[in-house]
Amino acid sequence: MTADTLADRWRAVRARVDAACRTAGRDPAEVAILPVSKTHPPTAIEQALSLGLHRFGENRVQEIRDKAAALPGCDIAWVVIGHLQTNKAKYVAQLASEVQSLDRMDLAEALQHRLEIEDRVLDVLVQVKTSPEPSKFGLPPEKLIAFLTALRDFPRLQVRGLMTMAIQSDDAQAVRSCFRDLRRLRDQAQEQGFELPRLSMGMSGDFELAIAEGSTEVRIGTAIFGARQAL
Ligand SMILES: *Cc1c(COP(=O)(O)O)cnc(C)c1O
Repeated sequence: MTADTLADRWRAVRARVDAACRTAGRDPAEVAILPVSKTHPPTAIEQALSLGLHRFGENRVQEIRDKAAALPGCDIAWVVIGHLQTNKAKYVAQLASEVQSLDRMDLAEALQHRLEIEDRVLDVLVQVKTSPEPSKFGLPPEKLIAFLTALRDFPRLQVRGLMTMAIQSDDAQAVRSCFRDLRRLRDQAQEQGFELPRLSMGMSGDFELAIAEGSTEVRIGTAIFGARQAL
């Protein structure tokens, strides 16, 4: 049977996440789902809102601006998950509730500055590069502790944890080792006094492996909203 409405797909994803938690001996309440609405129109977000969803992951700041304008009065928490240019910090400070792709100092500086102007604070996750693919963004793992230490001087950025994208591969062990690396990095950082409860890892194609390695949040686009639309 194919699940072909948004409500069906949402329920099917939640059931798969819950099953993966049970297989891993984890409480399903420990793993949140971030619906990734990038490329999908405001009408898809309206449908998701009617299912009780209200946090949405987006890659492009301009798309958040357009969608926020198309959905006035909706109580939406926009989560930036894509590579972020420093010159977009102003709009992020105005519109986003969270950034999961913080990966460098000049971006932290720009966000801190713009958040002061807006008198806001932002939850952030540090994106770490766990995959050798050159196309992937993220902080090199060996720089994590120094970066977390430096972020202590940016009080408008509330660091909650780490994010990664695994290697794109059919080799489940290679994918899983990216997730394991992120969890170990988090554990090491926590031993050094950094509080990092959240691990955002896992997408439509690999979230079961991420949950087995300790993910607290899976970012799901295709499995909820269907194939991405051309922009
Ligand atoms: C697009 C995207 C996702 C969701 O991808 P799907 O494979 O469609 O679930 C998750 N994380 C990031 C960073 C993305 O860019």
